[in-house]
Amino acid sequence: MEIVCKNCNTSHFLSDDRIPLETKTGKCKKCSAPITVLGKNAIGSIELSLTHSIQRLNVFLKS
Ligand SMILES: [Zn+2]
Repeated sequence: MEIVCKNCNTSHFLSDDRIPLETKTGKCKKCSAPITVLGKNAIGSIELSLTHSIQRLNVFLKS
């Protein structure tokens, strides 16, 4: 996955097997600003909430 530093817009590439389970804060290699690395669990919960939103939309459309 690609992580972009919000401070200097430098892209950092993180291979999928190096993504932590929990969300962690890393440091930008260029400007040392803290960068939030979304963990696999966090990404999963985002997908879950998205699915819930779609389900709610379906219920809304049917009624
Ligand atoms: Zn930076």
